[in-house]
Amino acid sequence: MFFENITLIDETMQVREHMYLGTIDDRISYLSDVPPADPSLYGEEYGACSGKLFIPGFFNAHSHAAMHLLRGYGENLTLHDWLNQRIFPFEAHLTADDIYWATQLGAAEMLRFGIVGTTDMYSMGEAMGRAFADSGIKANFSVGTTCFDDRTFQQMPQYAETLKLKELFHGYDNGRLQVDFSLHAEYTSSERIASGIAEAAAEAGLGMHCHVSETAFEVAGCRERHQGKSPVKYLADLGVFDVPTTAAHCVHIDEEDIAILADKKVTVASCPKSNMKLASGFCPVGKLLQSGANVALGTDSVASNNNLNMLEEIKTFALIHKGVSGDPTLITPAEALYAATRAGAVAQGRQDCGCLKEGYKADIVALNIDTIYMRPSHNQLNNLVYASCGSDIVMTMVDGRVLYDRGSFPHLDIEKLLYETEHSCQRILRELQSVQS
Ligand SMILES: [Zn+2]
Repeated sequence: MFFENITLIDETMQVREHMYLGTIDDRISYLSDVPPADPSLYGEEYGACSGKLFIPGFFNAHSHAAMHLLRGYGENLTLHDWLNQRIFPFEAHLTADDIYWATQLGAAEMLRFGIVGTTDMYSMGEAMGRAFADSGIKANFSVGTTCFDDRTFQQMPQYAETLKLKELFHGYDNGRLQVDFSLHAEYTSSERIASGIAEAAAEAGLGMHCHVSETAFEVAGCRERHQGKSPVKYLADLGVFDVPTTAAHCVHIDEEDIAILADKKVTVASCPKSNMKLASGFCPVGKLLQSGANVALGTDSVASNNNLNMLEEIKTFALIHKGVSGDPTLITPAEALYAATRAGAVAQGRQDCGCLKEGYKADIVALNIDTIYMRPSHNQLNNLVYASCGSDIVMTMVDGRVLYDRGSFPHLDIEKLLYETEHSCQRILRELQSVQS
């Protein structure tokens, strides 16, 4: 596919105008301010994107796509009441089919907002894997392990399930899908489980995804349970961070934790909107970046966000740390865009993703900049982070395939997804009602 007369943000975060970009198969094969000698090498010209702003596709570093069914279902509650009164009872009724349809609709929403890859944790992994395979999005996905008894990890269903998922999906479609192990969190598992899952991941050569230090309550409880250790220290001591790990939230972390996360090359998936909504607090992103830690950006689920609009997440991320710290120089637009793109790609082990660069995967988002609020164009990176809207996105390409195109999804039957997910919601509500009566 060939694009001409575009503005783009390159790998050094410089805005470049009047550019030419060509893709062949799943790669960016041409990127220059001079036209190629033979544009026909790159197939059809995509004229609708002429004059648009091209940026690397977003990587969502922490999501639960299937929770699409729970948007708006529990609001204005404490984390404890939100989970126990609303989320867990609803989730107890989910079937594999519910998860398949909801995950696909969640992936569609991500594509609509420019997300090309997601790091997703949920349950019923085969349904998740089929949904991500059918949606066209990149995904590193896992089934979260929780355990409140004294079983070993090898005795847990998630052990065999993850190894089966590895066989079925790991590396699927030229590496588009990857499988991780997942420890839900310190407070939902035992020491045996945490060390066992770390061993299993190392042995299988898979990554790890877990929730870490989301609330002050969690950290205080962990210190009581484990000889004064913070969740970061506890998980590090059990070997969890010895495999490539994405640690979601990391809101309540101290200097020692930050040093461990940087040293172990753990990716912190910061979820600013979710953390604010559940009043969990603010991840110390400035200090993490200073330490050299990889900080990526996640939406968390729509039950605590309530959308997967990554531009909204980026703007929130770029603003709140200024407000919280009193330092307006903290988190530049370039740092915010990096967190939403390259940092998430690196977290997924995708070294050839996350920037617009020749030879890299063609994961591209195009935005309309012909609007009042994107003018004047002193710097379209500043405009992108502080002024743009998610609805400005007109095209999302993953591995060279256009998956969202000016309001339509060429690969997905959105009507069917809406019908099936509505059907799931209504059935679950009926079941919940009959349990109560
Ligand atoms: Zn989460």
